[in-house]
Amino acid sequence: MNLLEMSHVKKTFGDNQVLKDISFAVAPGEVVSIIGPSGSGKSTLLRCATLLETMDDGSMAYLGKPIVTSRDGRAVYVDKKSQRKAMQIFGLVFQNFNLFPHYSVLKNVIDAPIHVQGRNKEEVCSEARVLLAKMGLKDKENAYPCQLSGGQQQRVSIARALAMKPKILFFDEPTSALDPELTLEILKVIKSLAEEKMTMVIVTHEMTFARDVSDRMIFMEHGLIVEEATPEAMFSSENERTREFLGKYY
Ligand code: ADP
Ligand code: MG
Repeated sequence: MNLLEMSHVKKTFGDNQVLKDISFAVAPGEVVSIIGPSGSGKSTLLRCATLLETMDDGSMAYLGKPIVTSRDGRAVYVDKKSQRKAMQIFGLVFQNFNLFPHYSVLKNVIDAPIHVQGRNKEEVCSEARVLLAKMGLKDKENAYPCQLSGGQQQRVSIARALAMKPKILFFDEPTSALDPELTLEILKVIKSLAEEKMTMVIVTHEMTFARDVSDRMIFMEHGLIVEEATPEAMFSSENERTREFLGKYY
């Protein structure tokens, strides 16, 4: 069974049709990267997948459970309770970290597992410390976000996402706010998650990384999927649009 399935997703802002007819699925253990020019709808697609944005039409299911169905050309969402349940399945890591500035590192990581998932505080704390150690932040649990480098902040936000024990992690340009050196450290973390078979969907402009880490790549442009292929096939594509886009990076 697919972990995530999105079919015929459409989204318009004003007169700007940002997602034209997007369908894709993610199987458990798969790493899918989404590439494409700025403005092609990548973030909107992730925001629809993570219920931060509503779609106008289309359907979506997590682990076979419908969250959105299409009826008479309109997206119909399930009840809020089922949506909240679905929200336990995924985690999201943003470009700009989105940590709570007035919370310590540890509190940033443990807050949602305790207050959203209602889990035991001691248990969550000890798991959070394991995660922080894994992210190379063993001695930072009492620091505040402003005392950390961008790379460290992004590692905290990855630990925070993992603390919810998601079945799938979404990354929206996780390194685009970082210097090249800090970018590498985040890419290493994501790669190690891939080696542990974490299911991930990664929007990125790091083409070499995407080629290395992905099982499948999706090239989006103007709200459509132009091409979906293995990294090998994508990088030797005959498609003119794909070639032109990738050509800008090589
Ligand atoms: P990408 O992530 O590929 O750069 P986005 O999904 O962020 O693309 O944006 C696609 C288009 O949708 C852009 O033209 C953007 O201006 C527009 N857009 C995104 N979010 C909104 C919004 N909340 N309101 C209006 N327009 C939006
Ligand atoms: Mg974006």
